[in-house]
Amino acid sequence: MDRLKLSEGFVFTQHSLETFCTCPMKFRLRYVENLNWKTVTDRGAQRRLRLGSSFHLLARRYFMGIDCEPSKGDEDFEKLSKWIIALKRNFPLREGFKFLPEYRLRMTGSSLNLEANLDLLIIGEGEAHIWDWKTGSRQVSPLSRRTAGKLASSYQTMVYMFVLKEQSEHLEVLKPGSKKISMHYWDPESEAVLAEITYSCGMHEKFGQTLRQLIDSIKNYDYAGFNREHYVKSCRRCEFNAWCARHT
Ligand code: SF4
Repeated sequence: MDRLKLSEGFVFTQHSLETFCTCPMKFRLRYVENLNWKTVTDRGAQRRLRLGSSFHLLARRYFMGIDCEPSKGDEDFEKLSKWIIALKRNFPLREGFKFLPEYRLRMTGSSLNLEANLDLLIIGEGEAHIWDWKTGSRQVSPLSRRTAGKLASSYQTMVYMFVLKEQSEHLEVLKPGSKKISMHYWDPESEAVLAEITYSCGMHEKFGQTLRQLIDSIKNYDYAGFNREHYVKSCRRCEFNAWCARHT
C-alpha cells in the first residue's frame, strides 16, 4: 500500500480535483510533492494565457473602482480594450449590490476542506451570484448546449457553489442569508453567458456527495498500483513527462 499522507489542513481546489481525475500521479507530484514545473505550451497558448490574466487584472481593477484602461503598449491592446468595454456594458456598478472581485472562499475543519477562487462575487439583498470569466478558449459557441452542460457539471461549478452555500451562513458579507445562489460563465469576446446555473438544495446534496466521494478516493488511492499506461493520453502535454518516463 502506498497511500498519500495528506496533512489535516490540506485544502482541495477545483484544479487539484480535476488534476487527480486526469492522472493521480500528476496530482501527487504537483500538489503533494509540490513540484512546480512549468508546462510547455505553444506560443499561441501562452499568448492566450497572458491575455486572460491581463483581462482578469483589469476586471478586478474595474470592480475596485480604480483605473482599468489597458495601456497602448499592452500586448493585444485592441482586444483588451474591446473586452473591458464589454465588461463595463454588461456589469454596470449598480447601487445596492456589492461587487467582490477575485474573492477567495475557503471551508476547513470538516471532512471537506475546499477552496474556491471566484473571479467575481456579486451580493445583493438575499442573493449571491458568482461570475467566472472564460477567456481561454480559441472558440466558444455561446449557444452550444454541450458547452453549457459541460460547464454546469464541472468541478469548478461544484466546488464554487458548494463552498459558497456552505459559507453563506458564516460570512458577514453574505448576510442576511443568501437565499438565491447562482453561477454564470461569461465570455467577453461574444459578451454571452455560456452557462447559468441556479443552485438548489438538491444540487447541494448531490455536489456534496460527489465531492466527498472523490476526496475519499484521493485519500485512499493506492499508488503502488499506479499504471502509467492508463493515463498515457495525458502524458504528452504533462510537465512531468520526462520524470515519469524514468520513474513510473
Ligand atoms: S506524465 Fe503521464 S503518467 Fe506522468 S504524471 Fe503526467 S499524465 Fe501522469
